[in-house]
Amino acid sequence: MVVKLSSPDYLICCDCESPCYVFEWKEGRVAEAICEACGNDEAETFLTEEDYDAYAYSDAWKYPGR
Ligand SMILES: [Zn+2]
Repeated sequence: MVVKLSSPDYLICCDCESPCYVFEWKEGRVAEAICEACGNDEAETFLTEEDYDAYAYSDAWKYPGR
């Protein structure tokens, strides 16, 4: 995973796949984030656009029920 020290423009919520603009970026990772679409506020479930693309094409992209 590429560590970026600069803050991205937005994050993607893994729960509802919506872009999220309300977040706090710290030392190359998500410190805090909240999804206005679904209310998710677990920082680990938000990805940058770049990480989301990498994640979507990896085997990790396996949600139960999809
Ligand atoms: Zn969401």
